[in-house]
Amino acid sequence: MDISEQVNILIVDDKPGNILVLEGILENLECNIITASSGNVALGLMLEYDFALVLLDVQMPEMDGFETATLMKGSERTKVLPIIFVTAISKEQWCIFKGYEVGAVDYLFKPIEPIVLKSKVKVFLELYEQKRLLKKQAELLEIRVKELLDLKQVNCYLENLSTLDGLTGIPNRRSFDQFIETSWKNAMREQLQLSLVMVDIDFFKDYNDNYGHLKGDDCLILVAKMLLSSIKRPIDFVARYGGEEFMAVLTNTGKQGALLVAERMKKGIEQLAITHDYSDVAAWVTVSIGVAEIIPQPTDSIMDLIKNVDQALYQAKQDGRNKICCSL
Ligand code: GH3
Ligand code: MG
Ligand code: MG
Repeated sequence: MDISEQVNILIVDDKPGNILVLEGILENLECNIITASSGNVALGLMLEYDFALVLLDVQMPEMDGFETATLMKGSERTKVLPIIFVTAISKEQWCIFKGYEVGAVDYLFKPIEPIVLKSKVKVFLELYEQKRLLKKQAELLEIRVKELLDLKQVNCYLENLSTLDGLTGIPNRRSFDQFIETSWKNAMREQLQLSLVMVDIDFFKDYNDNYGHLKGDDCLILVAKMLLSSIKRPIDFVARYGGEEFMAVLTNTGKQGALLVAERMKKGIEQLAITHDYSDVAAWVTVSIGVAEIIPQPTDSIMDLIKNVDQALYQAKQDGRNKICCSL
C-alpha cells in the first residue's frame, strides 16, 4: 500500500511510556500511527489529518479524555470519528456509561492485552478502508454522471444547431420556421405573393404497420427526394415538416404556380410506384396536397397562412385523398 494511502490512527496519552506500549503493539499493522500528548494537540491533529480511529486516554491533565471526546462531537469533521477509551481507572458502570455518552465506541483497560487491542483496531481499519472505497466509488460515479450530462448537453446543442432532418437529409422543421420567417418579411416588404404547399402521405400508418418501420423510413426518404427534385427555382424551399408531412415554401409564386408545383410533386411520387397494398386509393404510395397563397399584410400572420394550407390539405383528404386542394 502507498504510504500516503495508509490509514492513520491517533494515540492520545499524556505519558510517553503508555504511547510507546501502544505503538509497540500496533507496529505490525498496516497503518500510520500518529501520537498526541494532550487533548488539545489531538484536536489540532484531527483538523489536519483523517483518522480511522482515536485511542484516547481518559486521565490526562488539563483536558481529560471525556472532555476531548465532547469537543470532538461538536465539530462536523470529528463527530463521527470512532473513539476507543484507554483507561486504568475504575471499571465501574458510571465511568463506562459516561464514555459511551460522549461517543466512545469501545473501552480498553490497562494493562492492555495486545491481542484484544490488535483485533479491535483491525476492525476499525477495515471499516475505514471500506468507507474510503465507497467514497471513491461515489466520486467516480459522480464524475461519470457529470460526463454523461455534459455529453447530453453537447448532443442537444448540436441537434439544435442542425438544420437538416436526420432521416431524409432535407431541411428540418427548424429550418422551415426560419425560412418562412424570412420569406414572410420579404414578401411583406416587396408585397409579393408567397405560397405554401403541404404534402402528406396517404395511409402511411397502414404502410408502416404492414411493411414495418424501416420500409416506412425508406419510403419517406424516396418521397423527400422526389419533392426536392420537384422544386426548380433556387429560392424554392422544401422541408420535412413532421412525421410524413412535408412543406414547400414558394417565394414570389401565386396559387397558379404553386398548383403546378403540387401537380408535379403528386405525379412524381406516383411515378415512384412504391407498392402500397394497404392504401384505399391506389396500389402504390400517393399523397394529398394542400396549397395556400398570400400577399402578407401587417395584420396577417404566418400562423394564418399555415392554418389555411393545413385546411386545404384536410379538404384533399376529405375529398378522397390522392388529391390537391387549394385554400380559398
Ligand atoms: P392519412 O391518409 O389520413 O394521412 O393517414 P396516415 O395513416 O398517413 O396518417 P396518420 O397521421 O394516421 O399516420 C401517420 C403515420 O406516419 C404514423 C407513423 O407511423 C408514421 N410516421 C411518422 N413519422 C415517421 C418516421 O419517421 N418513420 C416512419 N417509418 N414512419 C413515420
Ligand atoms: Mg399526417
Ligand atoms: Mg398521412
